[in-house]
Amino acid sequence: MRFMKNIRNFCIIAHIDHGKSTLADRFLELTKTIDKGKMQDQVLDQMDLERERGITIKLQPVRMEYKDHILNLIDTPGHMDFYWEVMRSLGAVEGAILLVDAVKGVQAQTISNLRLAQEKNLKIIPVINKIDLQNARVQEVEQEISELLKIDKKNILKVSAKTGTGVENVLDAIIKHVPLPVHKKTSQNILVFDAFYDSYKGVVAYIRVLNSNLQKQPNQQIGVFKPQMTFVNKLNPGEIGYIATGEKNLEQYLAKMGFTKPLPMVFASLYPMDQANFHTLKDALNKLKLNDASLDSQEETSKALGRGFRCGFLGMLHLEIITERLKREHGLDLVVTTPQVNYKIEKRKNIIREPWVKLEIIVPLKYMGQVMSLLKNLRGAHKASNYLSNEILNIEYEIPLADVICGFYDNLKSASSGYASMSYQPLGMRNGDLVKLEVLLARERVPALSQIVPREFAQARARKLAKKLKDLIPKQNFAVAVQIVLRSVFEDNFNIGLGRVLARENISAMRKDVTSGLYGGDYSRKKKLLEKQKKGKKKMESIGKVRISSDVFVRLLGQS
Ligand code: GDP
Ligand code: MG
Repeated sequence: MRFMKNIRNFCIIAHIDHGKSTLADRFLELTKTIDKGKMQDQVLDQMDLERERGITIKLQPVRMEYKDHILNLIDTPGHMDFYWEVMRSLGAVEGAILLVDAVKGVQAQTISNLRLAQEKNLKIIPVINKIDLQNARVQEVEQEISELLKIDKKNILKVSAKTGTGVENVLDAIIKHVPLPVHKKTSQNILVFDAFYDSYKGVVAYIRVLNSNLQKQPNQQIGVFKPQMTFVNKLNPGEIGYIATGEKNLEQYLAKMGFTKPLPMVFASLYPMDQANFHTLKDALNKLKLNDASLDSQEETSKALGRGFRCGFLGMLHLEIITERLKREHGLDLVVTTPQVNYKIEKRKNIIREPWVKLEIIVPLKYMGQVMSLLKNLRGAHKASNYLSNEILNIEYEIPLADVICGFYDNLKSASSGYASMSYQPLGMRNGDLVKLEVLLARERVPALSQIVPREFAQARARKLAKKLKDLIPKQNFAVAVQIVLRSVFEDNFNIGLGRVLARENISAMRKDVTSGLYGGDYSRKKKLLEKQKKGKKKMESIGKVRISSDVFVRLLGQS
């Protein structure tokens, strides 16, 4: 099979904010793919949310023509929540620009993305960006990169994606060093690396043509990204483009094409603040799911919050983006419960499994002590520490995802005055020693508030939870005992009274003065009333009707 000699497929990998999208903008200008007059900043970030927050969420391919070559760039999200998306893009190209900010230097996502690119045997083109900045540390960053890649410093390109300095050299290096697309041995002729659903065109797949020409079939549309979708009649082997299949079901299509759907890593429930909006939420989620195969949702009902959905996300950024889009694009006011990881319980074997991740932390040496002591309080295992330069350390850890998602990122940032960066990738499920904390309010179970925690943290978490409940639950007209009970994760039915109470708080009764309206002096009548009130209290307590308004529930369940 003859391949067109003049195709180069590549992507840009970088830590967030190191200038990937801006560099792509310069490529588009330089190759005249987009007229300078029509150029906006970060032109490949098409979603409003992407543009506002300056992050790339969705991968976006673009085809450019330059010096008799076709250059296909796939701009990918740098964040590891979108690990699968990054992996798929890397699988469709032969080279990767490793872009590093001249001030910030090598950061966690630089390294995790680089590892993925190396796994795919991509040709790496190292580039330092933002050399126009006054505080650029070009020499130190050169040192970091040359140690990371084990290459000579003179092979590292230096650019300013903002001003355009040096950008041409990067395109030339791509033509010179990135290998030609090669024959890939597969039964299918196309590799699907992304897809979305369009109500007119049906499923539109982003593809890399593998072995032979792809001809347009009748009733089908094929094309390339310029960057807007543009029809062609034929795509050559090695080329990147799209195919509008007309198929109606995205999930089925992806399964047929052997596309592995990433499993959700983090779960949270979403409830509309106003139950009248339940159907709006349902429709909105369905709409998002059409184009986001990794979003998962299942209807559920909570006594306090009404009808809502338990949703699965790829990670915390994915969760944040979805909830933000629901608010913004669908005007929904939502209750989002505290995120949890996915546990797999095998009752018969008495085994519970939880997801683990490989955690990568890049930290300046002077904050290493603080970061290590932060990590020591978690359940992970230290795997390695490597110097990236005299002052920068790369720490590798294996750790349960649950320990990472509960506030670890914020703690890491404050332990390192903002200098540390982190990134993680899935390692699969492992056995855990986990227990359930069950909340009893006035001796009544409140299943919505129960949580799974590591046994070693159970005592501390129980105390914290009891305190939080005491602070948040308003006084009732009877005393309420808040009890946090330790349960096995393997039992589902139990009798109240079994299980060890790990923490207890009391919410004293609100004292309504029922006698205030009486004339003074009539003691026997007053006493009678007080007795009655006491009985009433008892009755209420034994019914166990603790009244919690939904806004308190929101604060109990929600991300605090
Ligand atoms: P991405 O997250 O990697 O796609 O990064 P962006 O392209 O969105 O850039 C992040 C920020 O860095 C934006 O504010 C850019 O304007 C800025 N930036 C990108 N390249 C340069 C550069 O070469 N010099 C300077 N001074 N700023 C840059
Ligand atoms: Mg970007």
